[in-house]
Amino acid sequence: MSKLVFKNLRRERDCMKQQIVLDEIVNKRGRRVDGFINYGQKPDMSHYQIPVIIVEGGHPGKTLLIDAAMHGDETEGSEAIIKLAAELENMEFNGTFVGVPALNMEAFACISRATLTDGFNLNRIFPGTKDKYITHYLAAEYMERVVSHVDAVINMHGGGDVLHLEPLAAYVPSEGEDDEVSRLSQGMAEAFNVKYLWCQQNLPFDGITSLEYKKAFGIPTIIPEVGSQCSRFVNRERDVDICYRGMKNVMAYFGMIPPTGDKPVEHKIHIELNYLHARNGGIQKLCKRENEIVEEGETLGVIHDMFGNQVEELKAPFPGVVIGYWSVPVIRPGDWWSLYGRILKKE
Ligand SMILES: [Zn+2]
Repeated sequence: MSKLVFKNLRRERDCMKQQIVLDEIVNKRGRRVDGFINYGQKPDMSHYQIPVIIVEGGHPGKTLLIDAAMHGDETEGSEAIIKLAAELENMEFNGTFVGVPALNMEAFACISRATLTDGFNLNRIFPGTKDKYITHYLAAEYMERVVSHVDAVINMHGGGDVLHLEPLAAYVPSEGEDDEVSRLSQGMAEAFNVKYLWCQQNLPFDGITSLEYKKAFGIPTIIPEVGSQCSRFVNRERDVDICYRGMKNVMAYFGMIPPTGDKPVEHKIHIELNYLHARNGGIQKLCKRENEIVEEGETLGVIHDMFGNQVEELKAPFPGVVIGYWSVPVIRPGDWWSLYGRILKKE
């Protein structure tokens, strides 16, 4: 995108700022408003809803949107948003915080990755459209009514119920020297302060938030991945804290709050994340675990059938590092088996 287009988009957005309109307000307290955006009445006469928390800092500054649980089983970010909002409403800061603790609330309420009504994965269908299924409608409404009014987005994810991922922050790849949006996105990812940084240069799918928000509004987005069901057993509070601190570090990066004083994570690793799929189902066993450095050809995992016969072996396609994996013993043909990082740079 040229600088001129970017500037025009920004000017338009500056005029639209502070105009997130909620359909239902459930709480108004000081500079904080909690409420819902409704996007369709159900047969039982309740509505599909997006819960929104808006906290004005009391001073001019950026509007930062942080959302979580667009995949309904990824809730570390949700807990961190709730905690951060409670803190922010009692302090002055620059700009506006917009928190959406459960973007796909139907999926969240059913502890499901995808929308139950139509089966769609919300983070594959952006920018959405208003003339298709409810998930497409959610994406389109969210972009129009929330995302178009903000300066930057943290779109929180995690391993959810079936995957594990080590904490990482993904940012949008640069399209050239004057690509200010990507520069900001990378800056946000670095500020988020986790071990792995992923430039989304090799995404195997379309329709995701970060790239579509850049295209539509010229705003920077990062996608952190923190926590998972297996991590929650011992590290739930730690993972929520990583999210919470990361969010504050990005606020500090934009000058919304003073520097947090967090010590930068040592030995950050820049990776290209690769999704390695299983071709057969069965009971899978991991031979390499998170953070293990692997040589090309080493075995990452094996799958056995119900009679104990090995039906598949996953070999590392190149030297790399294990970022995550399918964390459930049973795996099906086509499932993501290994989330495997090619190491681009070590700090
Ligand atoms: Zn996700």
